[in-house]
Amino acid sequence: MKHVFGPVPSRRLGLSLGVDLVVPKTCTMDCIYCECGPTTDCRIERDSFVDPRAVLDELAAVLKDGPRLDFVTISGSGEPTLSTDLGPVIDGIREMTDARVAVLTNAGLVTDPAVRAALSKADVIVPSLDAVSAEAFERVNRPHASLDPAAIVDGLVALRQEFSGEIWLETVIVAGINDSDDEVALIAEAVRRIRPDRVQVNTVVRPPAVAGTEAVSSERLAEIAAALGPSAEVIAQPSGGSQRRIDGAEELIYEMAARRPVTVQDVASAVGISLAESAKLIGAMTDEGVLEVVRHGDMLYHSAMARKGEGK
Ligand code: SF4
Repeated sequence: MKHVFGPVPSRRLGLSLGVDLVVPKTCTMDCIYCECGPTTDCRIERDSFVDPRAVLDELAAVLKDGPRLDFVTISGSGEPTLSTDLGPVIDGIREMTDARVAVLTNAGLVTDPAVRAALSKADVIVPSLDAVSAEAFERVNRPHASLDPAAIVDGLVALRQEFSGEIWLETVIVAGINDSDDEVALIAEAVRRIRPDRVQVNTVVRPPAVAGTEAVSSERLAEIAAALGPSAEVIAQPSGGSQRRIDGAEELIYEMAARRPVTVQDVASAVGISLAESAKLIGAMTDEGVLEVVRHGDMLYHSAMARKGEGK
């Protein structure tokens, strides 16, 4: 599988099958907290990066096994709205499954009506808005030079007017960068204008692209969520997991860890095994040089090592 991964437990979306429409690491931004590493192709021009037929064929192969999914989620190793295949692929997913479709986006291109039209085919859009001031936007998201946070907020307001599904706005708070009362007040004002169904307040929980990028405390996250209004919540770690054990566990673990670092808990939930079994599998894969250990704060994560003859 090159373009479809999981199902994986998501903090926001329950049991979610991921679909990746771009190639690593293609994005309109280069966020300091990114779990996918530094952006190597920072761009705003949309393009077709993968064969959409191949994506849908992979999806059909996974769905044939009948996994009990909450969502098919378009995300992956970059910004999905850069893909001109976004709308047609959502149409194709709808023909195959009743699972809801979500798109995770950094919202950098929502100023473009064609992008809003493609996004509007989803059931749930999860756009990011980490900063509204130009200074904090530059520091936390390191965007393409043409992106303007005020225009992005206007684009999100337009999206809300055009889209009848749910918008779950995510804001990732980084210590010392976008956690000031002034910045939070600007985000709160934007939230009042955008009127998302939910606001999900997050922080740095996995190894970030830039060393030294720090999480804020859970107390500060709770204060920020309170300041962002009644629709805001601090998002929690996943609980529960797959209802069935997935064959080819090592392949699944590798696919998950190739996209973002995973914990023993993540793997146990995704594969449907105990924590002890998960730790044993991860240990064996680390000993074989398939995974490497990455420490972030007090937590240990596991990333995929590149296999011979392929990129990461
Ligand atoms: S966090 Fe999202 S928007 Fe930011 S660089 Fe990574 S993929 Fe791009």
